[in-house]
Amino acid sequence: MSAKVESQVSLKPYNSFGIDVKAGYFAQARSDDDVRQLLAYAGSEDLPVLVIGGGSNLLLTRDISALVVRMSSSGIRLLSDDGQRVVVEAEAGEPWHPFVQWTLEQGLGGLENLSLIPGTVGAAPMQNIGAYGVEIKDVFAGLTALDRQTGELRDFTLEDCDFAYRDSYFKRNPGRWVILRVRFALSRTAALHLDYGPVRQRLADIAEPTAKDVSVAICSIRREKLPDPAELGNAGSFFKNPVVSAELAGRIREQHPGLVAYPQADGEMKLAAGWLIEQAGWKGYRDGDAGVHRMQALVLVNYGQASGEQLHELAQKIQDDVLERFGVELEMEPNLY
Ligand code: FAD
Ligand code: NAP
Repeated sequence: MSAKVESQVSLKPYNSFGIDVKAGYFAQARSDDDVRQLLAYAGSEDLPVLVIGGGSNLLLTRDISALVVRMSSSGIRLLSDDGQRVVVEAEAGEPWHPFVQWTLEQGLGGLENLSLIPGTVGAAPMQNIGAYGVEIKDVFAGLTALDRQTGELRDFTLEDCDFAYRDSYFKRNPGRWVILRVRFALSRTAALHLDYGPVRQRLADIAEPTAKDVSVAICSIRREKLPDPAELGNAGSFFKNPVVSAELAGRIREQHPGLVAYPQADGEMKLAAGWLIEQAGWKGYRDGDAGVHRMQALVLVNYGQASGEQLHELAQKIQDDVLERFGVELEMEPNLY
């Protein structure tokens, strides 16, 4: 077997919260063959398997008594180019942001709003990553995954992935598929998505912004607002923005005229979870090393030695409080193990 399996490995460097739990067994998969061999090894040793990418959407609450397989495959290729629409394929282990930068360097637009999201290409379909009005479903051209039940490869179309807001078929069926590579349909002439106020404001001085300009603007906004996991452990937004009935949003607004809410196509309202948490007084809260970021209430942070359990308990307190005050249920976004 080409991949090296190590035992009792700390996962601290492999999750953006910086939580120090151990994997019973750990290996990096650099190719399809590595994935197959590691799955066969786990089968022969009767070990469960947890596949991870960059670990930027995980909350690890205990030692993982499994073989943790970190996707570390690399490779980016152009599959087709009709002069306008260009299909690009990237291996699961490619780091997301450098991949986005590579597409922009080729003059290809489509992924610019998703700049500076941590993690890997292979994890991007898991929760249909999104930011500033764009989700990967908007440029998705297919993916190849290995079925752990049958050992067969399958190509997934957009419909097969059943993408939704921070959700997908894969997130709803955890553990069955190993995503090996993902394809994106990009364009030399794509229209820009400038609906989000801060992005539009940041580009106000540029008469005809390009996709690269949008990426630069978004990177600078994100660097100002979000803690860098290399300096302060976090997993980005800890809760999804709840979508509630217009009636409930109306009732909350009567009590809280400043409510931040966005109408959805079906008449429901998407509430800014960060606003609810901030109104409930949690912004900047700290208990030991588990806390709520002082600039962005949607981000839970690890000041150093917080355990996953402590962060989970803090999250549950916030959920209970927001439910009691506003009648709104907050759903966790990171994957809990
Ligand atoms: P991991 O955290 O390693 O894994 C996430 C899940 O996917 C796990 O359940 C894992 O088992 C599974 N998985 C990973 N790779 C594979 C694979 N190849 N095959 C099968 N299953 C797999 N998310 C957004 O949507 N929008 C944002 O704007 C955003 N901003 C963020 C900002 C910060 C500072 C941070 C820390 C996080 C942010 N996130 C955001 C969350 C996170 O970056 C994304 O969800 C990212 O796609 C996770 O990638 P990862 O490789 O780190 O996945
Ligand atoms: P923000 O600009 O403070 O806005 C708060 C929320 O309001 C956002 O989450 C966004 O929802 C929603 N929103 C703002 N303008 C909107 C518009 N014109 N139309 C519809 N909805 C709008 O948000 P932020 O926290 O700085 O994040 C900016 C973007 O990056 C958001 O898209 C956010 O999802 C994304 N982000 C995600 C993560 C993560 O871990 N998932 C982390 C950081 C940033 P949406 O979330 O639905 O876009």
